[in-house]
Amino acid sequence: MILYLVIPCYNEEEVLPLTAEAVRKKLEALIAAGKIAEESRVLFVDDGSKDGTWDILRKMTAENPLFSALKLSRNTGHQNALLAGLMTAKDHCDAVVSMDADLQDDINAIDGFLQKYEEGCDVVYGVRNRRDTDTRFKRTSAQAFYKFMAAMGVESVYNHADYRLMSRRAVEALSEYKEVNLFLRGIVPLIGYRSDYVYYDRKERAAGESKYPLKKMLSFAEDGITSFSVKPLRIISTFGIVIAGLSVFGLLYSLISKLTGNAVSGWTAIVASIWLLGGIQLLCIGVCGEYIGKIYSEVKGRPRFHVEQLLLRDGKAGGKPGEEETPSPPPFCLEASRRP
Ligand code: UDP
Ligand code: MG
Repeated sequence: MILYLVIPCYNEEEVLPLTAEAVRKKLEALIAAGKIAEESRVLFVDDGSKDGTWDILRKMTAENPLFSALKLSRNTGHQNALLAGLMTAKDHCDAVVSMDADLQDDINAIDGFLQKYEEGCDVVYGVRNRRDTDTRFKRTSAQAFYKFMAAMGVESVYNHADYRLMSRRAVEALSEYKEVNLFLRGIVPLIGYRSDYVYYDRKERAAGESKYPLKKMLSFAEDGITSFSVKPLRIISTFGIVIAGLSVFGLLYSLISKLTGNAVSGWTAIVASIWLLGGIQLLCIGVCGEYIGKIYSEVKGRPRFHVEQLLLRDGKAGGKPGEEETPSPPPFCLEASRRP
Protein backbone atom coordinates (compact mmCIF):
# COMPACT_ATOMS: atom_id res chain seq x y z
CA MET A 1 0.00 0.00 0.00
CA ILE A 2 1.55 3.26 -1.12
CA LEU A 3 0.96 6.12 1.30
CA TYR A 4 1.47 9.80 0.56
CA LEU A 5 1.70 12.40 3.28
CA VAL A 6 0.54 15.79 2.02
CA ILE A 7 1.79 18.78 3.99
CA PRO A 8 0.92 22.36 2.97
CA CYS A 9 3.55 24.90 3.97
CA TYR A 10 3.30 28.66 4.01
CA ASN A 11 6.36 30.49 5.32
CA GLU A 12 7.37 27.50 7.40
CA GLU A 13 11.17 27.66 7.13
CA GLU A 14 11.54 27.56 10.92
CA VAL A 15 9.59 24.40 11.51
CA LEU A 16 10.20 22.60 8.22
CA PRO A 17 13.50 20.85 9.10
CA LEU A 18 11.95 19.51 12.31
CA THR A 19 8.84 18.34 10.51
CA ALA A 20 10.83 16.72 7.72
CA GLU A 21 12.97 14.82 10.19
CA ALA A 22 9.97 13.62 12.17
CA VAL A 23 7.96 12.45 9.17
CA ARG A 24 11.02 10.84 7.60
CA LYS A 25 11.59 8.76 10.71
CA LYS A 26 7.92 7.85 10.87
CA LEU A 27 7.67 6.80 7.24
CA GLU A 28 10.90 4.84 7.37
CA ALA A 29 9.67 3.00 10.45
CA LEU A 30 6.38 2.21 8.73
CA ILE A 31 8.20 1.00 5.62
CA ALA A 32 10.55 -1.15 7.73
CA ALA A 33 7.56 -2.63 9.55
CA GLY A 34 6.04 -3.54 6.20
CA LYS A 35 2.94 -1.45 6.80
CA ILE A 36 3.44 0.75 3.77
CA ALA A 37 5.27 0.30 0.48
CA GLU A 38 8.72 1.63 -0.25
CA GLU A 39 7.26 3.96 -2.86
CA SER A 40 5.49 5.96 -0.16
CA ARG A 41 6.34 9.65 -0.15
CA VAL A 42 6.02 12.91 1.72
CA LEU A 43 4.64 15.63 -0.54
CA PHE A 44 5.20 19.17 0.69
CA VAL A 45 3.15 21.88 -0.96
CA ASP A 46 4.75 25.29 -0.98
CA ASP A 47 1.81 27.68 -0.93
CA GLY A 48 3.65 30.66 -2.40
CA SER A 49 5.89 31.17 0.62
CA LYS A 50 7.90 34.37 0.80
CA ASP A 51 10.69 32.99 2.96
CA GLY A 52 13.22 30.21 2.34
CA THR A 53 10.66 27.39 2.37
CA TRP A 54 11.10 26.44 -1.29
CA ASP A 55 14.90 26.43 -1.08
CA ILE A 56 14.72 24.05 1.86
CA LEU A 57 12.26 21.84 0.01
CA ARG A 58 14.39 21.76 -3.12
CA LYS A 59 17.41 20.71 -1.13
CA MET A 60 15.47 18.06 0.73
CA THR A 61 14.03 16.51 -2.42
CA ALA A 62 17.47 16.36 -4.01
CA GLU A 63 18.93 14.61 -0.98
CA ASN A 64 16.22 12.11 -0.19
CA PRO A 65 13.81 10.52 -2.69
CA LEU A 66 11.30 10.10 0.13
CA PHE A 67 10.63 13.83 -0.06
CA SER A 68 8.82 15.48 -2.90
CA ALA A 69 7.64 19.02 -3.30
CA LEU A 70 5.01 20.93 -5.19
CA LYS A 71 5.30 24.65 -5.72
CA LEU A 72 2.20 26.72 -6.34
CA SER A 73 2.40 29.90 -8.37
CA ARG A 74 1.25 32.07 -5.46
CA ASN A 75 -0.35 31.96 -2.03
CA THR A 76 -3.78 30.40 -2.41
CA GLY A 77 -4.59 29.61 1.20
CA HIS A 78 -4.40 26.43 3.23
CA GLN A 79 -7.47 24.71 1.74
CA ASN A 80 -6.43 25.23 -1.87
CA ALA A 81 -2.84 24.22 -1.13
CA LEU A 82 -4.09 21.05 0.48
CA LEU A 83 -6.32 20.33 -2.49
CA ALA A 84 -3.41 20.85 -4.88
CA GLY A 85 -1.39 18.31 -2.89
CA LEU A 86 -4.22 15.79 -2.79
CA MET A 87 -4.86 16.09 -6.52
CA THR A 88 -1.19 15.52 -7.25
CA ALA A 89 -0.81 12.66 -4.81
CA LYS A 90 -3.87 10.72 -5.91
CA ASP A 91 -2.24 9.68 -9.17
CA HIS A 92 0.64 8.04 -7.36
CA CYS A 93 -0.72 6.34 -4.28
CA ASP A 94 -3.37 4.19 -2.60
CA ALA A 95 -4.07 6.52 0.30
CA VAL A 96 -3.20 10.06 1.39
CA VAL A 97 -2.76 11.50 4.85
CA SER A 98 -3.01 15.28 5.06
CA MET A 99 -1.44 17.14 7.95
CA ASP A 100 -0.14 20.57 8.95
CA ALA A 101 3.50 21.51 8.73
CA ASP A 102 3.82 22.49 12.38
CA LEU A 103 3.77 19.01 14.00
CA GLN A 104 0.75 19.95 16.09
CA ASP A 105 -0.94 16.80 14.97
CA ASP A 106 0.56 13.67 16.50
CA ILE A 107 2.17 11.73 13.65
CA ASN A 108 1.83 8.49 15.60
CA ALA A 109 -1.90 8.65 14.91
CA ILE A 110 -0.97 7.49 11.40
CA ASP A 111 -0.68 3.92 12.74
CA GLY A 112 -4.31 4.15 13.78
CA PHE A 113 -5.24 5.62 10.38
CA LEU A 114 -3.56 2.73 8.58
CA GLN A 115 -5.26 0.17 10.75
CA LYS A 116 -8.69 1.63 10.04
CA TYR A 117 -7.79 1.76 6.36
CA GLU A 118 -6.92 -1.94 6.43
CA GLU A 119 -10.27 -2.57 8.09
CA GLY A 120 -11.91 -1.04 5.05
CA CYS A 121 -12.43 2.65 5.84
CA ASP A 122 -12.05 5.14 3.03
CA VAL A 123 -11.84 8.18 5.27
CA VAL A 124 -10.28 8.28 8.72
CA TYR A 125 -10.62 11.53 10.69
CA GLY A 126 -8.02 12.55 13.23
CA VAL A 127 -9.89 14.05 16.17
CA ARG A 128 -8.22 16.02 18.95
CA ASN A 129 -8.75 14.72 22.41
CA ARG A 130 -7.94 17.87 24.24
CA ARG A 131 -6.65 21.28 23.37
CA ASP A 132 -4.92 22.38 26.54
CA THR A 133 -1.66 22.96 24.67
CA ASP A 134 -3.28 25.64 22.53
CA THR A 135 -3.42 29.17 23.84
CA ARG A 136 -6.60 29.98 25.70
CA PHE A 137 -7.67 32.36 22.97
CA LYS A 138 -7.13 29.80 20.21
CA ARG A 139 -9.00 27.21 22.20
CA THR A 140 -12.07 29.28 22.96
CA SER A 141 -12.21 30.78 19.49
CA ALA A 142 -11.90 27.36 17.87
CA GLN A 143 -14.54 25.91 20.17
CA ALA A 144 -16.85 28.81 19.33
CA PHE A 145 -16.11 28.15 15.67
CA TYR A 146 -17.36 24.54 15.77
CA LYS A 147 -20.41 25.46 17.84
CA PHE A 148 -21.33 28.34 15.56
CA MET A 149 -20.89 26.20 12.46
CA ALA A 150 -23.17 23.55 13.92
CA ALA A 151 -25.78 26.16 14.85
CA MET A 152 -25.66 27.49 11.30
CA GLY A 153 -26.35 24.08 9.86
CA VAL A 154 -22.88 23.00 8.71
CA GLU A 155 -22.14 19.41 9.55
CA SER A 156 -18.51 18.91 10.35
CA VAL A 157 -16.59 16.55 12.59
CA TYR A 158 -16.16 18.19 15.98
CA ASN A 159 -12.54 18.98 16.83
CA HIS A 160 -11.27 17.61 13.55
CA ALA A 161 -9.00 19.86 11.51
CA ASP A 162 -7.53 18.68 8.26
CA TYR A 163 -5.57 15.77 9.70
CA ARG A 164 -7.09 12.73 8.01
CA LEU A 165 -6.48 9.73 5.81
CA MET A 166 -8.33 9.42 2.54
CA SER A 167 -8.23 6.44 0.23
CA ARG A 168 -7.50 6.97 -3.42
CA ARG A 169 -11.14 6.59 -4.38
CA ALA A 170 -12.20 9.09 -1.73
CA VAL A 171 -9.76 11.62 -3.19
CA GLU A 172 -11.05 10.81 -6.69
CA ALA A 173 -14.53 11.56 -5.39
CA LEU A 174 -13.29 14.79 -3.85
CA SER A 175 -11.90 15.84 -7.22
CA GLU A 176 -15.45 15.88 -8.55
CA TYR A 177 -16.42 18.68 -6.19
CA LYS A 178 -15.66 21.70 -8.27
CA GLU A 179 -16.41 24.47 -5.82
CA VAL A 180 -14.13 27.44 -5.66
CA ASN A 181 -15.05 28.35 -2.08
CA LEU A 182 -13.32 25.37 -0.58
CA PHE A 183 -14.16 24.06 2.86
CA LEU A 184 -12.73 20.56 2.84
CA ARG A 185 -13.96 19.66 6.32
CA GLY A 186 -17.49 20.12 5.11
CA ILE A 187 -17.03 18.35 1.77
CA VAL A 188 -15.27 15.19 2.95
CA PRO A 189 -18.21 13.96 5.08
CA LEU A 190 -20.44 14.46 2.00
CA ILE A 191 -18.44 11.87 0.05
CA GLY A 192 -19.98 9.24 2.22
CA TYR A 193 -17.72 6.22 2.04
CA ARG A 194 -17.11 4.27 5.20
CA SER A 195 -15.31 6.41 7.75
CA ASP A 196 -14.02 6.27 11.29
CA TYR A 197 -12.19 8.37 13.88
CA VAL A 198 -8.79 8.17 15.48
CA TYR A 199 -8.22 10.23 18.63
CA TYR A 200 -4.95 11.97 19.43
CA ASP A 201 -3.56 14.69 21.65
CA ARG A 202 -2.85 17.99 20.01
CA LYS A 203 0.59 19.39 20.69
CA GLU A 204 2.04 22.85 20.61
CA ARG A 205 3.35 24.24 17.37
CA ALA A 206 6.94 22.99 17.10
CA ALA A 207 8.30 26.32 15.83
CA GLY A 208 7.19 29.48 14.06
CA GLU A 209 3.81 31.07 14.56
CA SER A 210 0.24 30.40 13.53
CA LYS A 211 -0.65 31.30 9.96
CA TYR A 212 -4.29 31.53 10.95
CA PRO A 213 -4.81 34.88 12.66
CA LEU A 214 -8.30 35.80 13.84
CA LYS A 215 -9.11 37.54 10.57
CA LYS A 216 -8.37 34.44 8.48
CA MET A 217 -10.28 32.28 10.94
CA LEU A 218 -13.37 34.49 10.70
CA SER A 219 -13.29 34.45 6.93
CA PHE A 220 -12.80 30.66 7.05
CA ALA A 221 -15.90 30.31 9.24
CA GLU A 222 -17.85 32.58 6.94
CA ASP A 223 -16.76 30.57 3.91
CA GLY A 224 -17.73 27.38 5.65
CA ILE A 225 -21.19 28.61 6.50
CA THR A 226 -22.08 30.30 3.25
CA SER A 227 -20.70 27.42 1.15
CA PHE A 228 -22.54 24.75 3.04
CA SER A 229 -25.73 26.06 4.45
CA VAL A 230 -28.62 28.29 3.48
CA LYS A 231 -29.69 28.47 7.10
CA PRO A 232 -28.78 32.18 7.47
CA LEU A 233 -31.11 32.97 4.57
CA ARG A 234 -33.84 31.00 6.28
CA ILE A 235 -33.22 32.84 9.55
CA ILE A 236 -33.66 36.11 7.69
CA SER A 237 -36.99 34.98 6.25
CA THR A 238 -38.21 33.88 9.67
CA PHE A 239 -37.10 37.20 11.09
CA GLY A 240 -39.03 39.02 8.37
CA ILE A 241 -42.18 37.07 9.11
CA VAL A 242 -41.92 37.71 12.84
CA ILE A 243 -41.37 41.43 12.36
CA ALA A 244 -44.22 41.66 9.86
CA GLY A 245 -46.43 39.94 12.44
CA LEU A 246 -45.35 42.41 15.12
CA SER A 247 -46.04 45.35 12.82
CA VAL A 248 -49.76 44.54 13.08
CA PHE A 249 -49.56 45.58 16.71
CA GLY A 250 -47.72 48.73 15.68
CA LEU A 251 -50.47 49.53 13.24
CA LEU A 252 -53.16 49.01 15.86
CA TYR A 253 -51.22 51.18 18.29
CA SER A 254 -50.87 54.06 15.84
CA LEU A 255 -54.54 53.84 14.79
CA ILE A 256 -55.66 53.94 18.39
CA SER A 257 -53.30 56.86 19.05
CA LYS A 258 -54.80 58.75 16.12
CA LEU A 259 -58.36 58.05 17.19
CA THR A 260 -57.67 59.15 20.74
CA GLY A 261 -55.92 62.30 19.49
CA ASN A 262 -52.43 61.43 20.72
CA ALA A 263 -50.84 61.22 17.27
CA VAL A 264 -47.73 63.30 18.04
CA SER A 265 -46.67 61.28 20.98
CA GLY A 266 -45.08 58.09 19.80
CA TRP A 267 -42.22 59.89 18.12
CA THR A 268 -39.77 57.85 20.18
CA ALA A 269 -41.30 54.62 18.98
CA ILE A 270 -40.97 55.73 15.36
CA VAL A 271 -37.36 56.85 15.63
CA ALA A 272 -36.41 53.70 17.50
CA SER A 273 -38.05 51.43 14.99
CA ILE A 274 -36.49 53.26 12.05
CA TRP A 275 -33.05 52.65 13.46
CA LEU A 276 -33.76 49.12 14.49
CA LEU A 277 -35.37 48.09 11.24
CA GLY A 278 -32.76 49.97 9.21
CA GLY A 279 -30.04 48.03 10.97
CA ILE A 280 -31.78 44.72 10.55
CA GLN A 281 -32.40 45.39 6.87
CA LEU A 282 -28.79 46.30 6.23
CA LEU A 283 -27.64 43.17 8.00
CA CYS A 284 -30.01 41.01 5.99
CA ILE A 285 -29.00 42.60 2.71
CA GLY A 286 -25.41 41.97 3.71
CA VAL A 287 -26.04 38.29 4.33
CA CYS A 288 -27.84 37.92 1.00
CA GLY A 289 -24.95 39.78 -0.61
CA GLU A 290 -22.51 37.25 0.80
CA TYR A 291 -24.37 34.50 -0.99
CA ILE A 292 -24.48 36.47 -4.21
CA GLY A 293 -20.74 36.97 -3.86
CA LYS A 294 -20.32 33.22 -3.51
CA ILE A 295 -22.45 32.60 -6.60
CA TYR A 296 -20.33 35.17 -8.46
CA SER A 297 -17.07 33.40 -7.71
CA GLU A 298 -18.53 29.94 -8.35
CA VAL A 299 -19.97 31.01 -11.69
CA LYS A 300 -16.63 32.35 -12.82
CA GLY A 301 -15.18 28.96 -11.92
CA ARG A 302 -11.62 30.18 -11.86
CA PRO A 303 -8.90 27.59 -11.30
CA ARG A 304 -8.21 27.04 -7.63
CA PHE A 305 -4.45 26.84 -7.95
CA HIS A 306 -1.68 26.73 -10.49
CA VAL A 307 1.26 24.38 -10.17
CA GLU A 308 4.56 26.03 -10.88
CA GLN A 309 6.86 23.08 -10.29
CA LEU A 310 6.67 19.50 -9.11
CA LEU A 311 9.66 17.64 -7.76
CA LEU A 312 8.68 14.02 -7.36
CA ARG A 313 10.44 10.70 -7.69
CA ASP A 314 7.63 8.23 -7.41
CA GLY A 315 9.81 5.12 -7.66
CA LYS A 316 7.63 3.62 -10.39
CA ALA A 317 10.23 4.21 -13.10
CA GLY A 318 11.51 0.70 -12.58
CA GLY A 319 14.50 1.40 -10.40
CA LYS A 320 14.48 1.64 -6.66
CA PRO A 321 13.73 5.10 -5.32
CA GLY A 322 16.85 7.15 -5.39
CA GLU A 323 18.40 5.28 -8.29
CA GLU A 324 18.30 7.53 -11.27
CA GLU A 325 18.78 4.94 -13.94
CA THR A 326 16.06 5.52 -16.49
CA PRO A 327 16.19 8.75 -18.43
CA SER A 328 12.49 8.44 -19.28
CA PRO A 329 10.35 9.06 -17.38
CA PRO A 330 12.76 11.49 -15.78
CA PRO A 331 13.54 11.10 -12.10
CA PHE A 332 12.18 14.58 -11.60
CA CYS A 333 8.95 15.27 -13.38
CA LEU A 334 8.77 18.96 -14.05
CA GLU A 335 5.18 19.81 -14.63
CA ALA A 336 4.47 23.29 -15.85
CA SER A 337 8.16 23.96 -16.33
CA ARG A 338 9.50 27.44 -15.96
CA ARG A 339 10.25 29.64 -18.87
CA PRO A 340 13.95 29.64 -19.82
N1 UDP B 1 -0.96 27.30 5.42
C1 UDP B 1 -0.93 27.36 4.03
N2 UDP B 1 -1.33 28.52 3.41
C2 UDP B 1 -1.77 29.62 4.11
C3 UDP B 1 -1.83 29.51 5.52
C4 UDP B 1 -1.42 28.35 6.15
O1 UDP B 1 -0.55 26.40 3.36
O2 UDP B 1 -2.11 30.62 3.50
C5 UDP B 1 -0.54 26.05 6.10
C6 UDP B 1 0.51 26.22 7.16
O3 UDP B 1 1.80 26.23 6.64
C7 UDP B 1 0.26 25.01 8.06
C8 UDP B 1 -1.23 24.80 7.92
O4 UDP B 1 -1.64 25.52 6.76
O5 UDP B 1 0.91 23.86 7.57
C9 UDP B 1 -2.01 25.23 9.14
O6 UDP B 1 -1.62 26.52 9.52
P1 UDP B 1 -1.33 26.91 11.03
O7 UDP B 1 -0.63 25.79 11.74
O8 UDP B 1 -0.62 28.22 11.03
O9 UDP B 1 -2.79 27.08 11.60
P2 UDP B 1 -3.31 26.78 13.09
O10 UDP B 1 -2.83 25.39 13.46
O11 UDP B 1 -2.70 27.83 13.94
O12 UDP B 1 -4.79 26.86 12.97
MG1 MG C 1 -1.03 24.77 13.47
